[in-house]
Amino acid sequence: MAKINILKPEIFNKISAGEVVEKPASIVKELIENSIDAGADKINIQIYDGGITKIVVSDNGSGIEPDDLESAFLPHATSKIANEDDLYNIATLGFRGEALASIAAVSQVEVISKTINSNGNSIKISGGEIVAEGEKGSPAGTYICVENLFFNTPARQKFLKKPKKEESDITTLVAKLILANPNISIKYSADDKLIYSSSGQGLKDAIFAVYGAQTLNSIIPIEFERGNYKLTGYLGKTSFFKPNRTYQTIMVNNRYVADSIINVALSQSYESYMMKHCFPFCVINFSIPVNEVDVNVHPSKLEVRFQDSRAVFGFIYSAISETLFNYLTQKTNEEVETKQPEIQLSKPEEVDVRKTETTQNTSNDLGMSILFDNLTQDNNRLELHSSKDSVLSEIIIEKLTSQTPKETLNTTEEKPVFVPQPTQQQLIKEEIVDKDAYLSSQIIGKAFNTFVILEQEDNLYFIDQHAAHERLLFDKFVSQIKNDNVSSQPLLLPYTIEVNYQEEQFLNENLSMLQSLGFGIEPFGNLSFKISAIPSLLPDLNVPNFFSNFLANLNNYSQMKSIDLIRDDLAEKACKHAVKGGDDLSKEELIKLVRGVGDGNVTMQCPHGRPFVVKFTRKDIDKWFRRIV
Ligand code: ADP
Ligand code: MG
Repeated sequence: MAKINILKPEIFNKISAGEVVEKPASIVKELIENSIDAGADKINIQIYDGGITKIVVSDNGSGIEPDDLESAFLPHATSKIANEDDLYNIATLGFRGEALASIAAVSQVEVISKTINSNGNSIKISGGEIVAEGEKGSPAGTYICVENLFFNTPARQKFLKKPKKEESDITTLVAKLILANPNISIKYSADDKLIYSSSGQGLKDAIFAVYGAQTLNSIIPIEFERGNYKLTGYLGKTSFFKPNRTYQTIMVNNRYVADSIINVALSQSYESYMMKHCFPFCVINFSIPVNEVDVNVHPSKLEVRFQDSRAVFGFIYSAISETLFNYLTQKTNEEVETKQPEIQLSKPEEVDVRKTETTQNTSNDLGMSILFDNLTQDNNRLELHSSKDSVLSEIIIEKLTSQTPKETLNTTEEKPVFVPQPTQQQLIKEEIVDKDAYLSSQIIGKAFNTFVILEQEDNLYFIDQHAAHERLLFDKFVSQIKNDNVSSQPLLLPYTIEVNYQEEQFLNENLSMLQSLGFGIEPFGNLSFKISAIPSLLPDLNVPNFFSNFLANLNNYSQMKSIDLIRDDLAEKACKHAVKGGDDLSKEELIKLVRGVGDGNVTMQCPHGRPFVVKFTRKDIDKWFRRIV
C-alpha cells in the first residue's frame, strides 16, 4: 500500500465527522473495507458474542509496511488521500483515516501484517496505548483482532445490544458485503459456526452463498447502459416477491448503499407487476462517474447524494422496466412457442373502424333506450303523483335535487331531468350520539330488515344492524385479548416458515408478543420457525399470509402493538359472524343489539370506520316538510 499520510485538519473537516465505532457491525465494516482496499481476494471473518468479545478479520491483501504499522493507528492516518482533490475522486472504500485509531482507542487490538517486501510485524494496542510491538512471522496480508470492545468506556458498553442482535446486524452487513464484492472469497463465522462462504467466482455465486440455491431459479440478469450510467446485477422475477425490503441490495460503484432514490425507482418499476406490500428481490450495482456522486453524506457511508438525481431516477426506472418488460415478453413468446408450436403468430387483423363504430352505436342505442325507458317510467310515476297531488310531486323533486339552490328550482319552468343523488353529508348528520339519551329510546320498528329505528324525545335513530353487531363482536374479541383471555388452538399440521437473518432477528424480538396473542411459535433451527398453534379466536387464519404481513412490519420503525397485528383478522371475523343486512331479527335480538351498542365503551362506528348510528332530529324532519325553514 502507498505511504500513509496524516490528513491536514482542513481536509479532515470536509468529511462528515462521526463515530466509526458505533457498534460491532461498524467495526467489522471498517475492517473488511480496509481489506478490500488492500486488494485482498480472500477475507476471513470470525466473530464471538456478537463481536463484543472478539472480532478477527484476516486477509491476503497488500499488508502494511512495518514503518507504517504505528502510524496506521494515528487519528487521520490514511494512505488513501493526500490532498483535497482526492476527496472528490474517491474510488476506495475507506478514506477518513480514523477507523483503526478509533477502534484501537476503545478496545484491545492486535495487528499482524506482512507485505511482500517485508517480514511480518505485529503491534498490540490497548485503549489507544501501544503495549507491544515487534517482528512476527505471518503469511502475506493482514490479520486484525479486536477484543473486549468498550472495555475502557463502560458508559458506551451499556449501549451495546444483546450479542444475538449485534450478531444479526453483522451477519446482515457481511451478506451485503459478499454481494457487493462477488470477486472476493469471503468466509464468515459466528461463535465458530460457519454462516457464509462465498467463492469469489462472480455475482451468481455470491447470491448462492447468501440466499441459497433456490433463489437462483427466481432471478434474471440485468445489464443496461446509457451514456455514463450502467446498471448490472440480478433482479427477482415478477413472481418472486418478499414481504419486506431486506432482500434488496443496492450498490453504487460497488459500494452498498441504503435509502437512495434507486429504491424508489426500483419499487416504481415493479409497481404494475406486484401487489401492495410486496417487495421485489434485487442485487444491483449502479455505476456512475465518481465525480457525479457524493458518498460523504452519511458518516457510515450508507447514503449517497447524486448531482443529478432526476437523471439517475429516470435511468434506473427505464433500466429495470425495460429489462422486466423484455423478460416477460420473451417469456410469453417462449411459452407460446413451446406450448403451441403449430400456431403461427401473425399480425392482428386490421380493425375496421366503421364496423366498430356501428357496433358501438347499436349498443349505445340500446343503452340509451333502456335509460329512456327508465326515465319515462319515472316520469309516469311522477305524473301519477302530480295528477293526484301536484304539490307533493314538486316537493319530491325538490328534495331529490336539494343541491340546486331554491330560487332556481322555483323559477325554472322545466323540471330538471338529471336527478343528482343527495350527498351522504346531506342525509347523515354525523353528530356524536349522546349515549344516555340513546339508551332511553324505544324501538319503534325496523326497515328492510336492515335498519332498526328508535325514537327518543325529539330524536330518531337509525341503526345499521350488521355494522352495529360487527362492532360489538369486534370489541368482545379485543377485550378477550386485553384481559389475557386468549387461548391457543393447536394446528393439526404445524407450519414452518423460512426467513433470512434479519427476519429471524425480528421474529425473535417479537416472539413473546406473538405468543401472548395465542400463537404457538418457536425457533426451529437454521433460519426457520415452527408454528404449532394459532389464536382460538381466529380458527380460519391464513397462517402464511399472516406471517408474510407480520414480516412486513420490519420496514416500519414504530413500536408494534400486539392487538394491531390481528386487528384486520379480528375485524374480518367480526364481519363474517355478525348478522347481515336483510336478516330478520326477533324483537329480543333487536333489544340486545340496541342495548349492547349503548354500552359506555362502544365506539359508534363499525371496525372499518363507518358510522352505524345515524340520528335525525324532529327539526330535520320538520324541515323536509317545510314546516320550518
Ligand atoms: P482509512 O481506511 O480511512 O485510510 P483506516 O484507519 O481504516 O483509515 O486505516 C488506516 C490505514 O491503515 C489505511 O490507509 C491503510 O494504509 C492501512 N490499513 C488498514 N487496514 C489494512 C489492511 N487490512 N491491509 C493493508 N493496509 C491496511
Ligand atoms: Mg479504513
